[in-house]
Amino acid sequence: NEAKSANHGVRVFEPGMERHVEHGLTLLSDLRRAAEADEFFLLFQPKLRLRDGHCDAAEVLVRWRHPQRGVVPPDRFIPFAEQTGAIKAITRWVLQQSLRQLARWQREGQPELSLNVNVSTRDLMQPDFPAQVERALRQAGVSARHLCLEVTESAIMDDPLLAMDCLQALNRMGVRLAIDDFGTGYSSLAYLKRLPVQELKIDRSFISGLDRDEADVTIVRSTIDMAHHMGLSVVAEGIETEAVGQRLRAFGCDQAQGYLYSRPLPAADFMDWLRQHRDSAARLTQPA
Ligand code: C2E
Ligand code: MG
Ligand code: MG
Ligand code: MG
Repeated sequence: NEAKSANHGVRVFEPGMERHVEHGLTLLSDLRRAAEADEFFLLFQPKLRLRDGHCDAAEVLVRWRHPQRGVVPPDRFIPFAEQTGAIKAITRWVLQQSLRQLARWQREGQPELSLNVNVSTRDLMQPDFPAQVERALRQAGVSARHLCLEVTESAIMDDPLLAMDCLQALNRMGVRLAIDDFGTGYSSLAYLKRLPVQELKIDRSFISGLDRDEADVTIVRSTIDMAHHMGLSVVAEGIETEAVGQRLRAFGCDQAQGYLYSRPLPAADFMDWLRQHRDSAARLTQPA
């Protein structure tokens, strides 16, 4: 229907859409099976301190290796999983695998490493979600302060009171919380002020044009100022050029993520990247 009206009555399907519609039920059962069949896998994107480039955190990003469709990016199945409720199983799987991987890395010489994991609205609306997180932490043997959960503004605004309960419980456990894609939702500053979050991630759409768009400069600078006044650490996502990175550093932005530093990487490649990154940073700070 949407495809029809946008194209003056001519039916146009994007690739995969037809199958998606006809086999929506197949996709759903595929999704439900995927976690058990080990079809999901995780990528890790480094998150750096802008001041000096130090890295001791990464964001976990899920992928689905579908037997027929190949690798499916999260934007193509997470929204569907949220509608159908399959997201709960996915989140549980992502959390367990992320924390297991983190525990391994911490044992293997990265004791201060932490991970950011994305969660969705449906997760926050589940009364037992904090208990589920606590269990995953305990089973992996990871301390809560090494986990940061990323929640979008719209997820919070879906049901602010329920979301607030959940975030407060997580906060009491010592789990860190981040607002993801900041600036794209409709959260009111009144709510923001009361949320027990520690990080604010400015959406990529405000970051990419920072070297040329004065409106973006104004938005980003005032967001950084506001966040700092509220005691939050500011993360800029989607940094692709040196010029943008430098501007953000000049504006006092705390942390950075983007293709400029690294694309999301498989676990082993992330560890290689991290060791190399630390080595070159050490070389730079050593006296000549
Ligand atoms: P997000 O949490 O805002 O993640 C950032 C997205 O930007 C990722 O896309 C990442 O690969 C991409 N990105 C990072 N740096 C750059 C850059 O410099 N340039 C550009 N163009 N893109 C960059 P990805 O991996 O496709 O994930 C898309 C969204 O899917 C995520 O947005 C998040 O909302 C959701 N998602 C990913 N993994 C999970 C998960 O495990 N659970 C849930 N619930 N959602 C997830
Ligand atoms: Mg995120
Ligand atoms: Mg984001
Ligand atoms: Mg996003």
